[in-house]
Amino acid sequence: MAPLKLPRGPVAALRGVPKSSLLGCYAESPRASFWGATRGPQKLAFGVLRGVHKSLLLGCYACAQWRLALGPLVTVFRYPLVLSSFSRRLIRWYRAQGRALPWRRTSDPYAIWLSEIMLQQTQVATVIPYYNRFLSRFPSVQSLASASLHQVLKHWEGLGYYARCRHMHLAAKEMVHRFRGRIPRRMEDLCSLPGIGRSTAGAILSIAFNAPHPILDGNVRRILCRYFAIEKPPKTVEAALWNHSKELLPKKDVGVYTQAIMDFGATLCSKKPLCHICPVQSGCLGYQRGVQTHLPISPVRKTIPHYDYVAGVARAGSLVAIRCRPEKGLLGGLWEFPCERVDDQQRADLIRVISVSVKAHTGYRPYQITPMMVIDHAFTHFRMTLHVFACKIRARGVPHSTSNVEWVEATRLSWYPFSSAHKKIARVLTRPLVQTRPKAPL
Ligand code: SF4
Repeated sequence: MAPLKLPRGPVAALRGVPKSSLLGCYAESPRASFWGATRGPQKLAFGVLRGVHKSLLLGCYACAQWRLALGPLVTVFRYPLVLSSFSRRLIRWYRAQGRALPWRRTSDPYAIWLSEIMLQQTQVATVIPYYNRFLSRFPSVQSLASASLHQVLKHWEGLGYYARCRHMHLAAKEMVHRFRGRIPRRMEDLCSLPGIGRSTAGAILSIAFNAPHPILDGNVRRILCRYFAIEKPPKTVEAALWNHSKELLPKKDVGVYTQAIMDFGATLCSKKPLCHICPVQSGCLGYQRGVQTHLPISPVRKTIPHYDYVAGVARAGSLVAIRCRPEKGLLGGLWEFPCERVDDQQRADLIRVISVSVKAHTGYRPYQITPMMVIDHAFTHFRMTLHVFACKIRARGVPHSTSNVEWVEATRLSWYPFSSAHKKIARVLTRPLVQTRPKAPL
């Protein structure tokens, strides 16, 4: 910054003061940033100013004193400008460089709702094929509501976090029942539906209807913690983060801004921020303090437990036993091969455990049990090793199905929605049959 024309008094008073003291004064001054954040720029200032002639430092120092006096006023007037420039710059960046994603090309609130739900905890690249398939099979609230949970889960199979899918299905039914099959436009109505929280509702309302509602998903939390240099775990400052998210909202183009900040968090201000090309770098307090890569502060991670499970592929001829999990709870509504968690004592004799388990689930005790495969799988809150055994059953005629266990042809396993681990077993069972299928004549 060019030194101001100096008032004579302070300059005269400072003559004879060693340069190092002036550097100190300079660093303590609010010159570096109107926020008062001097730690990062302070280092820079020392580096840059070493070797600068003292008269120039006197200029800076005097300038700093003026700023110190005017500081509060400057802050009051500049703060709204900085906030509005955040949204303005993000929108400009997004219009020039934002990603062209399928759900960005639509203003259909149903499609936007679907994308918001699928994107929770899941990468964009994983979501795109699921989004396209799901939307072409269930193109509206009505079509989703009238489908069975089995059909809906089949289109979600492999995407994980199946509670999202069950909640969407329930919410679609409620929309048909309470809102004539339309996505409600009021925040309270949206938030009253299963699986829709304040942030998801804010995203739907702002993107689809350009309504001024803030969002606070994982990406936005990270950006805000860095931009405002919040050195506390986000969960402990939730209310403050909502306030920041609200005050950054632009007066117009809210929908574009919402998409911009989500895209910005996923691409530039991601886990490893690309600050050198960031459009809002000049106002970022975390960057100025040099702490952006340490933010947001993560809560202390609990150690993830590991459990052993056994699964029995009970077969009677070409029939295989599968069971449907209860609708509520982990992997609710999905199908699996009868399986059981084993404790430390049982681990020594897995064959006995699987024999008892298959008998309990199907009513038939296997006469032959052989190890088939071992699958390692990680859930959010635990890891699992699944020991899979092939179990042969002898039954007179077709084995009996029970309320939640069905005997199905192995070739039809692909009709059922399985969790990822059990899908691997199903693939092994269907693969040889698929491979040996004769080719159609040319
Ligand atoms: S300067 Fe860096 S940390 Fe700050 S908002 Fe930009 S990318 Fe994020």
